[in-house]
Amino acid sequence: MTKRVHNFNAGPAALPLPVLEKAQKELLDYKGTGMSVLEISHRSKEYDATQKHATDLLRELMGIPTDYKVLWLQGGASTQFFDVPLNLQQSGKPMEYVFTGAWSKKAIKEAKLYGEVKVIASSEDRKFTYIPKNVVFSDKAAFGHITGNETIGGIEWQYWPTIPSSVPLACDMSSDFMDKVVDVKKFGVIYAGAQKNLGPAGVTIVIVREDLLGRVPENTPTMLKWKTHAEKDSLYNTPPCFAIYLCELVLEHLKGLGGIPAVEKVNREKAKLVYDIIDKSNGYYRGVAEKDSRSLMNVTFNLATPELEAKCVDEAKKNGLIGLKGHRDVGGMRASLYNAVSLESTKALCSFLTRFKEQNP
Ligand SMILES: *Cc1c(COP(=O)(O)O)cnc(C)c1O
Repeated sequence: MTKRVHNFNAGPAALPLPVLEKAQKELLDYKGTGMSVLEISHRSKEYDATQKHATDLLRELMGIPTDYKVLWLQGGASTQFFDVPLNLQQSGKPMEYVFTGAWSKKAIKEAKLYGEVKVIASSEDRKFTYIPKNVVFSDKAAFGHITGNETIGGIEWQYWPTIPSSVPLACDMSSDFMDKVVDVKKFGVIYAGAQKNLGPAGVTIVIVREDLLGRVPENTPTMLKWKTHAEKDSLYNTPPCFAIYLCELVLEHLKGLGGIPAVEKVNREKAKLVYDIIDKSNGYYRGVAEKDSRSLMNVTFNLATPELEAKCVDEAKKNGLIGLKGHRDVGGMRASLYNAVSLESTKALCSFLTRFKEQNP
């Protein structure tokens, strides 16, 4: 049998084993074409069916209303950091952002290229260890922006902020995409790089309400207008076919598990197991995030010293537990528990952490 580790990588990250096996099985002869999906035209009927199916599954699983478009784009979530203000800006109106860590910082930096940015709430005062409470956007804003989950800090919105219905809310859901049930109607735009919680690197999802597509200035490059891709069903140019195909397989897999409500239930169970280890360790493991802002997806924690953390990461690796080193900017440790990380892998992590504490008092 092929050796598979317990994968806690932050992104690109674990994919469900049945998905990888199906992709492997179909690789040489896709739907009887005698070619792989990597080798066929993006205008072929076989590929067309794949992309449509992926879109339909996404719509079904997330309950995306009919007045929203689903776009499959390239450039990563980082491209959306400028594409969001580019497509949603309105002259004379400020763009309102919530500043919760490394990813929102990058989004804010790009928005400033387009006009006035107002940071209406921030958790910088306590090193981004929490999501600000009672956030309210004003009706003066062109749009509001939040980062659903700060992948590096390990904090996630547990409630959605208040925003006037006339102001669209944009959300970077790269690392919390489909980790829980979300009411899409609350958002004007949801975007996410696929490589954390949906599929492989190379494709970015944008879910955008149709009435917002007309805002983009005419002199914007064609490829940067959401409208272009919305009008052509993400086939204006060559889409990242293989990445979208893998997303289709992941979505099928999630549907088979019972959809997002079932996935959310397991995610809550997984996160609780690891946070319980932290909370019951008498300070041996110290959680980074404040309790009411803890991420379901990225559990960040520290040990007494960087040396002990390095030892823990190293020994974990020897035990087949991969990807537990914290982000290089903040250090510490991080266990990413994305949808594809099984309850079994999470339990293996918990047993290891319990053992490590006993053996390294
Ligand atoms: C990883 C990540 C990004 C960057 O995604 P790319 O696809 O690499 O550009 C942006 N936002 C969040 C929250 C992330 O976790």
